[in-house]
Amino acid sequence: MADCYLCGKRAVFRTEDGPLCAEHFSKWYENGVANAISRYSMVNPGDRICVGFSGGKDSTVLLAALCRLNLDCELVAVTVDEGIGGYRDDTILAAKDTALRLGVEHRIVSFKDICGKTLDELLANSPQAACSVCGTLRRRALNAAAREIDADSIATGHCLDDESQSVVMNYLRGDVTRATASFNSNSGDLFIRRIKPLCRSTERATVAYGLCNNLLVPLPECPYTRYALRKDVRTWLGKLEYEKPGTLIRIADGQEELLSKMPKAEGEKKILGRCEKCGEPTSNKLCAACQQLERLM
Ligand code: SF4
Repeated sequence: MADCYLCGKRAVFRTEDGPLCAEHFSKWYENGVANAISRYSMVNPGDRICVGFSGGKDSTVLLAALCRLNLDCELVAVTVDEGIGGYRDDTILAAKDTALRLGVEHRIVSFKDICGKTLDELLANSPQAACSVCGTLRRRALNAAAREIDADSIATGHCLDDESQSVVMNYLRGDVTRATASFNSNSGDLFIRRIKPLCRSTERATVAYGLCNNLLVPLPECPYTRYALRKDVRTWLGKLEYEKPGTLIRIADGQEELLSKMPKAEGEKKILGRCEKCGEPTSNKLCAACQQLERLM
């Protein structure tokens, strides 16, 4: 690769403006995260932010970038232990180590704590539904942890690739409710605000930032990934992004523009109540997590 166009040192990443060395690229990446935070007004002075921290590459970069931005806020990293054999134990060790190095308070909450069973036990008879069950219970676990630490918001490491994949997956599934739910939105006052500071950063740049700053360690892949539709969509969009750079941001921006032109979706206007079983916010009698658990237990 050519030299950094700002200082002439060896470049590690080519941006739209030109190639950058590790130092200038790291600054460029952090500026991108800061711009996303300001674009969507994600952080208020004095906020206490619960950072969803799996120990994987995206959440590790998220935590490090938030620390380096010196925002006027307090960070608490929370790792959800789903109970996935051969996978989660290694990522928990990596998470503990990173949080310690960054000097961030770290907590762990497990599926076993919230429903008495691990994900492996819940899925003993239907591994295909893994990601849907996992995602719903993970949201429940993070909400509970965020409430316990009195957080103003929950930050997750979803990057631009994840956001664009979700847009495409909602259309592939014909899931109109999710397709019309606002990007970076809150579904109601009872929920803790969700923020995604990496939502304008590509996965490629996120990994490069992690490597440049010695943040990443090799970790196993979740064994349930092979059942996920997301895996196919990721491969397909990754190929499109390579052949037609800018595809991912065009999908995310297109979706945002589409939503801005729509009347507020019914689901978002509904006044939320509380789940009859667990007290979590929901528009139905039972929240999504309790419905999932009723089907599986
Ligand atoms: Fe959960 Fe699916 Fe991610 Fe595995 S791949 S951690 S099951 S969402």
